[in-house]
Amino acid sequence: MTYVIAQPCVDVKDKACIEECPVDCIYEGQRSLYIHPDECVDCGACEPVCPVEAIFYEDDTPEEWKDYYKANVEFFDELGSPGGASKLGLIERDHPVIAALPPQAE
Ligand code: SF4
Ligand code: SF4
Repeated sequence: MTYVIAQPCVDVKDKACIEECPVDCIYEGQRSLYIHPDECVDCGACEPVCPVEAIFYEDDTPEEWKDYYKANVEFFDELGSPGGASKLGLIERDHPVIAALPPQAE
């Protein structure tokens, strides 16, 4: 099990969640952040601080955003398990589900 970042983060990315994560497993893509499914320890610290309620426990992800579980997992297909997001910084790409979205922010 893991936590998942869903659509409300796209084009918002205020990064409040990153500050809370004790294992540095929230990675920054071009338009969204992504939680590493194997590095996340399910502590839940990130979920309440997200101002747009983008973070869900895997099983509690709303039906309309179920694809985001896959997006968070597949984002790491090429990266593997880097063991820490801060050393990577911005990763200049997104999962195709997110890359295909029209601009979300006002
Ligand atoms: S706190 Fe929410 S909106 Fe901000 S970066 Fe994290 S998931 Fe995205
Ligand atoms: S649940 Fe905990 S370990 Fe997982 S991403 Fe959120 S803060 Fe990090």
